[in-house]
Amino acid sequence: MLLRGSAPVTNAIDNLLDVPLSELPRIGNKRCEALASVGIETAGDLLQLYPRRYLDRSSITPVRQLRETMEEVTVVGTVLHVKQIGQGPRARHEMMIRSDDGGQCKGVWFRGGRWLARAYPAGRVVAFSGKPQKYGATFSFSHPDVERIDDEAPRLATGRIIALYPGGQAFDEARITSRAVRRLVYDVIKEHGLSIPEVLPTWLRTYAAVIEGPRALRAIHFPKSQEELAEAKRRLIFEELFQFQWTLVRGRALQKQHAGPQIGEPGALTQAFRASGLPFTLTDSQEEVLVQIGQDLSSGVQMNRLVQGDVGSGKTVVAILAMLQAIDHGFQCAFMAPTEILAEQHAQTLSKWLAPLGIKVGLLLGGQAKRVRQPLINAIAEGEVAIVVGTHAVIQAGVAFRSLGLAVVDEQHRFGVVQRAKLFSKGNRPHMLLMTATPIPRSLAMTLYGDLDVSIMRGMPKGRKPIETTRFLERDRDAVWTRIAAEIDKGHQAYVVYPLVEESEAMDLRDAISAVEMLKEAFPRYRVDVLHGRMSSAEKEDVMGRFSRGDIQVLVSTTVIEVGVDVPNATVMAIEHAERFGLSQLHQLRGRVGRGGDQGYCFLIAGHALSAEGQARLAAMCQTTDGFKIAEMDLKLRGAGDFFGTRQSGLPAFKLADLVRDAEWIGIARKAALALANRDLHLVDPSHRVLKSWLTPTVRARSGFIRVG
Ligand code: ADP
Ligand code: MG
Repeated sequence: MLLRGSAPVTNAIDNLLDVPLSELPRIGNKRCEALASVGIETAGDLLQLYPRRYLDRSSITPVRQLRETMEEVTVVGTVLHVKQIGQGPRARHEMMIRSDDGGQCKGVWFRGGRWLARAYPAGRVVAFSGKPQKYGATFSFSHPDVERIDDEAPRLATGRIIALYPGGQAFDEARITSRAVRRLVYDVIKEHGLSIPEVLPTWLRTYAAVIEGPRALRAIHFPKSQEELAEAKRRLIFEELFQFQWTLVRGRALQKQHAGPQIGEPGALTQAFRASGLPFTLTDSQEEVLVQIGQDLSSGVQMNRLVQGDVGSGKTVVAILAMLQAIDHGFQCAFMAPTEILAEQHAQTLSKWLAPLGIKVGLLLGGQAKRVRQPLINAIAEGEVAIVVGTHAVIQAGVAFRSLGLAVVDEQHRFGVVQRAKLFSKGNRPHMLLMTATPIPRSLAMTLYGDLDVSIMRGMPKGRKPIETTRFLERDRDAVWTRIAAEIDKGHQAYVVYPLVEESEAMDLRDAISAVEMLKEAFPRYRVDVLHGRMSSAEKEDVMGRFSRGDIQVLVSTTVIEVGVDVPNATVMAIEHAERFGLSQLHQLRGRVGRGGDQGYCFLIAGHALSAEGQARLAAMCQTTDGFKIAEMDLKLRGAGDFFGTRQSGLPAFKLADLVRDAEWIGIARKAALALANRDLHLVDPSHRVLKSWLTPTVRARSGFIRVG
């Protein structure tokens, strides 16, 4: 239900949150401009500028009780003075304060402290937050968060919880202090609080057991108690997660209404391949996943399925069988890989396995010459090429299929959501089969892949031995070379991997190249070569070709070999500067060895000065080879934001929710979204009117509002 307040709000707008701040009385133009410069334009933007932190009496540490062992603390005191100490570039600024208990401490700014003297004259009451460090008899805080709280001091003293808002340069420049935000929020809630709509219908609120929205919005800014604050957070976190889950659940439900290409049951090609093309028997989980895919393809409904299977679990052959089903019924397939090396390798594997069946495989790469590319593009349009393997070049304009039935995206986590959507728009809504070797915890899967059907491929092909992983210190590198030599003497091959971190790309490249020289000297008998991202496609292709044929015995490489590369005779890998890699990346890299029947080895080489987190990572790698366990640890160590790198992953940026901490709430939000989809997928029920307008994204135009979708 919509609560209407006394304050008249312009024309058809019934939701305070959509109202531009400039339309609210008492907020001047200057203010509005300043707010707009930090992205705050509507009342909703303002009210959803959630506090970064809170100050309450219980969280303030008296200065006399400061200890060096303390982490983040907040102290409150009166400014005694602000002083510049020293001259020129090494000058620093110090602010000395005295707290109620008579203790004194100071904040120190080694740069950018010039404004302090003006902003904090003696006598002001301020709060410092940061880590206390003791110099002589005095505690000091280096670059603390500093906050003027004089006008609130009395209230603070009576136990009020005070919100602190996000700061940073943009906010500073616009002179939007926590105090200013607090004031504005207070005014808006006081004047228009009754026009804040409750977006969730009662049944949903009961379902999730959360408090009312307007109350939560007030309490997140002005909590009366820690309990109320916790309730408010729960409600708002649920709201955020629910909104996101709804887009996924709804998207999936709508997709299920789309017809897909009509592909019948597996046919003659499938049988022929199984009878003569396959050098091994499929594992139970490969068969299970194939049953699911087979049903999807012949269901008449467009498939959107993700196959999650650990590195080396055998996803490629599953994709091949799925493609055969499509080809048998006259359709073409696209097979997209994230790197040229991988695309190249897939094209080879597919040709080798499928040529005997008379199936034509084409390879499309970005750097190809027109005279190679054009005939291929023509053949694709004519329908002569059954499978087109490629990098993102496959989805570029100018490539048209005659009858695209199935698109496979390998290592899908390496592609952005946009690329996925682009491929999807090729042809007549092809079935989509996505594959990933980054197993992720369920809560995250529900968020990242919530719009897909997910198949999980557990276990490994028979006879696969877990890769033996050992840590070495840099000074023990010789021992690693000895182990590698032993493997090569048995007829196997080795990788030596160097990280390529962007900032130090040139240096790392030098590392890799000088390693080649060093290894050539150390092992004059062995054929050593190098592979890195700066090489041309043709060079890379040549090196990879020689490595897979066994002509190269030691391949020194940057992380270009990270995904998918499959050379079963390679049994040993050394990873230099292993501490610089994330867990999942190490796991991917390690997955390059031990892919045949022979024991695989991975040697992690790291310096001795490791952070605790670095230690934990390397220890985890030595303990387990289970991709799911590793992913879970990685997520815990790094947090969800870094887990994939938000930019690529399509992970939404949540304001309050945290995908690791709030895993349980993701489940609740998902169930709630499913319940809503069951009841009212198109949100036509009158009691869902407000909910509908909240869930329908709006695009803000210069004047007024445009609804989309
Ligand atoms: P990934 O799942 O990492 O993409 P691949 O599909 O590259 O793994 O398979 C890894 C290796 O295992 C390949 O050499 C492949 O031929 C082999 N393989 C796949 N399935 C089986 C199986 N059922 N039995 C034995 N080897 C298999
Ligand atoms: Mg693969």
